[in-house]
Amino acid sequence: MTATMMDGKALAVEVRAAVARDVEELGHVGLATILVGDDPASHVYIAGKHKAATEAGIDARDVRLPADTPEADVLALVEQLNQDDEIDGILVQLPLPAHIDETTVTYAVAPAKDVDGFHPVNAGHLYLGTPLHVPATPAGCMELLTAYGVDPAGKDAVVIGRSEIVGRPMAMLLVQAHATVTICHSRTAELADHVRRADIVVAAVGRPGLVTPDWVKPGAAVLDVGLTRTDEGIRGDVDPDVASVAGLLTPMPGGTGPMTIAMLLRSAVKAARFRRRLLAYPGL
Ligand code: NAP
Repeated sequence: MTATMMDGKALAVEVRAAVARDVEELGHVGLATILVGDDPASHVYIAGKHKAATEAGIDARDVRLPADTPEADVLALVEQLNQDDEIDGILVQLPLPAHIDETTVTYAVAPAKDVDGFHPVNAGHLYLGTPLHVPATPAGCMELLTAYGVDPAGKDAVVIGRSEIVGRPMAMLLVQAHATVTICHSRTAELADHVRRADIVVAAVGRPGLVTPDWVKPGAAVLDVGLTRTDEGIRGDVDPDVASVAGLLTPMPGGTGPMTIAMLLRSAVKAARFRRRLLAYPGL
């Protein structure tokens, strides 16, 4: 079997075009990003998000602060953006410098403006099965499954990784779509045996080539989220030879990555709808 590659790049173009139409209909969508310090990867990510947001007609405000900015100043800025009527969505680029507590800053963002879906109110609603803002990477994986005709209902799914930003929310979205979900992590015994039973595999670890062809059930849908920069270029968690066994596979790059940015833009539109009461956000 040779897997069909799930073209995240092409699907992201479609999502971004739909976002542009939504932005036009809404008249104005404001997104503020906060970048503290000079982490080179973060600069690349923020530049990508701004380019995509601007192309979709989103009014994107790029706030950059020096690495030694006190935590109190970052919190004051977040509060100012929380109150700003021109701003629908706020994104704080992680990681923050070591002297700033990421949890404190994440919790400070107004939940309805939390386009990343990292605030415990949004994480809690996802857990309860009433999602509001959802983290973009797992949301993008769900969109890919839908686009390629995979209905998770009744299927066995394995998520490798249990981080707050990818693994956990991914598992919750799959449960909500009625899959039977196993969450694996660094302490999982017999990881390969779990993966072999799965109709849907999501790898979000950061270990190049972790998932090998002999781990994969023939015909399974395999989504590769892991992203590691090596001397040979960007590598995913999934060995490319998995294409000889899987039914569907995301390429790396060009799979889950482009979808992450597209889904973030969709979140900004959702935030604008929450704020205009076109969609209900509890307490707004
Ligand atoms: P993270 O916070 O480091 O979490 C990694 C997870 O993998 C943890 O739950 C860890 O288990 C688990 N793990 C580590 N080694 C393992 C092993 N040998 N076997 C099984 N599980 C293992 O990372 P993250 O933020 O979730 O990101 C994961 C990967 O996705 C990274 O490569 C990141 O760069 C990439 N990423 C890609 C996108 C995209 O758009 N494509 C977006 C976000 C992240 P413990 O919990 O036990 O430590």
